[in-house]
Amino acid sequence: GDMKPFSLIIQEANEELQRLNLSYEQVVLELKQAKRNAETLAVGLKEANDKLRELAIRDELTGLYNHRYFQDQLENEITRAARYKHPVSLLLLDLDFFKKVNDTYGHPAGDHVLRETGSTLNKLVRQSDTVARYGGEEFAIILPETATTSAKVLAQRVRRGIEQLRIKFEKQTIPITVSIGLACTDMTDATMSRTEIISKSDQALYRAKHEGRNRVAL
Ligand code: GH3
Ligand code: MG
Ligand code: MG
Repeated sequence: GDMKPFSLIIQEANEELQRLNLSYEQVVLELKQAKRNAETLAVGLKEANDKLRELAIRDELTGLYNHRYFQDQLENEITRAARYKHPVSLLLLDLDFFKKVNDTYGHPAGDHVLRETGSTLNKLVRQSDTVARYGGEEFAIILPETATTSAKVLAQRVRRGIEQLRIKFEKQTIPITVSIGLACTDMTDATMSRTEIISKSDQALYRAKHEGRNRVAL
């Protein structure tokens, strides 16, 4: 007896259905928007991650790879070279009398020389070689798949390339030379570790300095 008329129940049910339909469409719209937002966010996140990774492996002044990346990369190359019995060469470079460049032309000029040297080194080597800033005015170049003979040729090319640079800074031309220590895994029958090859090229660099600078020592 208290029951609503059948027609009213149908009407209410219809209204409810319409509301549900509307809110369903709304939810779908919101979902689509949320998906677009998530996609934009993911792109931004990837870009930020890429930038962060670049920052972590680059030297701020020269844009070359930094010391840490160099060590990691050398470890990789040494391991790979040992596994496949292929050679890998390492060049350690140290600018000659660089303190004098700073003293004569000023620290900003010195920074400029470091940047120019870095970009020149990058131009002189192959894509597969790794050029890094080892420290202050010291650089390192890893030459994968490169035996002593070709490494010597490249080292001389690099030495000459730096010597021939005419670095301009505030209307002055700054002459610069570099001493290079070279070591290669094919110099010994035993396997060489990362620290051994660094130590050997460091000793060679020391000799290049003592024999008069602006030269390559093996
Ligand atoms: P040598 O031929 O024996 O290598 O002489 P050198 O003067 O290059 O050697 P030394 O190690 O005494 O001097 C290195 C100089 O490099 C000292 C330091 O002030 C300078 N240097 C290191 N890092 C930077 C840098 O980021 N910018 C500038 N402008 N100079 C730097
Ligand atoms: Mg030095
Ligand atoms: Mg020096």
